[in-house]
Amino acid sequence: MHNSDDGAGHGTDHAGAALPALDGPRRPLAALTIALLSCFCLLLAGLQGWSAWHAYRTRLDDSRVATANMTRALASHAETSIKLGDAVLAEMVERIEHDGLDDAATERLTLRLRELTHDVGELHGLFVYGPDGKWLTSSLPRPMQGNNFDREYFQYHLLHTGRGTHVSVPVRSRSTGVWILPLSRRIEAPDGTFAGVVLATLNLGWFGRFYDSFDVGKNGTILLALDNGTLVYRRPFHDDQVGMDIRNGTIWEQAQRSGQPGSAVLAPRIDNIERLYSYRHLAGFPLFVASGEAKDEILAGWRRSTLQTGVLVLAAICALAWGGVLLVRQIRVRERLEHDLRRAGAALQRHNESLQNLADSDALTNLANRRLFEDRLVREYDRARRSGAPFALVMADIDHFKQYNDHYGHPAGDDCLRKVAGAVADGARRPADLAARYGGEEFAVILADTDLAGANAVADRIRASVAGLDLRHPDSPSGRVTLSMGLYVGHPSLAERNDPLAWVDVADRLLYEAKDTGRNRVVAREGHEAAA
Ligand code: GH3
Ligand code: MG
Ligand code: MG
Repeated sequence: MHNSDDGAGHGTDHAGAALPALDGPRRPLAALTIALLSCFCLLLAGLQGWSAWHAYRTRLDDSRVATANMTRALASHAETSIKLGDAVLAEMVERIEHDGLDDAATERLTLRLRELTHDVGELHGLFVYGPDGKWLTSSLPRPMQGNNFDREYFQYHLLHTGRGTHVSVPVRSRSTGVWILPLSRRIEAPDGTFAGVVLATLNLGWFGRFYDSFDVGKNGTILLALDNGTLVYRRPFHDDQVGMDIRNGTIWEQAQRSGQPGSAVLAPRIDNIERLYSYRHLAGFPLFVASGEAKDEILAGWRRSTLQTGVLVLAAICALAWGGVLLVRQIRVRERLEHDLRRAGAALQRHNESLQNLADSDALTNLANRRLFEDRLVREYDRARRSGAPFALVMADIDHFKQYNDHYGHPAGDDCLRKVAGAVADGARRPADLAARYGGEEFAVILADTDLAGANAVADRIRASVAGLDLRHPDSPSGRVTLSMGLYVGHPSLAERNDPLAWVDVADRLLYEAKDTGRNRVVAREGHEAAA
């Protein structure tokens, strides 16, 4: 019942001090940690993925440039070889048409042809055929008999009047048995009629040796083919592939479709190996070259390093995840402990408060006890000294209470005490007021910041409300239970600090004055310092 606006914290300050730190806004720390670590893992995986993709593109691009350069060199080589044959054929035709082919001219021509094939490695042989297909002369070391009327190039020139060089499908030489690429031109008589064919054959072995000198990896390839889809040479070399029709193949399609140099990843039907191809047409001749590196071989290094870094990144992610699990577990344990601690703290605080209440209150009346009263008296005294406000102290005592006990017995006396205490407590209404049981049937009331008139009014109200309880007391002259009070209103001196407990004596003296002057009354006095 007693007012404990400030008293509750007496014994609980230390226990409560650590708790506010835990009472801040609750952060979802575990969720935040999970989100942060997940983001980090995703970032790591993303970076690894991006760099692998970038390395993949770079590797393919580098390879594309390398095969394109190689194809350019191969095309240039083939052009040079064919141009050489073309030039030789042009010279032969000019000579035959100008000098004719009598014995002397034929002998001179034969010598020249032998000289040329000897000096130029690409040239396998040079031949002159009459209008009936008969061999007239050649670069071969000894004269040979034969007729080439049936050859494709012979038939071509017989039927076509064009004077340019005709490139034929590769054939096996009748004279030496090696694979050759025939180049031919038409010879005309002065009247423009067909007079025979000159033939230059390029040794495909020569191309092969050149193509083999390039490094295209184990499964790489190089090929030379006619625009009409006839394969001239392909590395790796297989006899049965020369002259093969590749029109249903992916490379031929690709090279013919654009007509321009280009690159593409293709898996040709011939061996089904996926390669990065570059292709290019020969300038001025109906041929194209292509070279390709196996995609597996191009990407082997990339695969190895990606796998290595991938394993490292995966290990890092696993370590992070494991660390994260431990961390989150720790955070959850901490949060649980915090929760338990907070609950225990709150329980302890409640317990302390009730202990404090017990320590500060009087068991019978539930008013503040004498200990709390004296604490509060000292505090109010000091507060009044600082503020310069007055404060009032009331000492009250039940009249003729001994007789009441004697008359009704002790338990009834206790009951009466409780009722009077209730009336006293009701009188001290302000938060800073304090009603206490001073001892026995004596009560004390502190009225903070209250002047004489106000305190008098409060004291008289208490007195009247006790009288108004109308508790019968046959041994009292008034016939009921009444209260006598001494009221002292003081102004503590700021200059000089006296013992506030001395005020109790002053109020007590006034109380006895009230007893002496007839009881059931208030005797009040105002002073400027208790000790004065
Ligand atoms: P006065 O008017 O002069 O105050 O007369 P009084 O009888 O009240 O005076 P006194 O102080 O001599 O008597 C106090 C009595 O109050 C003594 C005791 O019987 C009674 N008393 C003190 N404390 C208690 C208590 O806790 N319970 C009960 N029932 N009686 C108490
Ligand atoms: Mg008394
Ligand atoms: Mg009394």
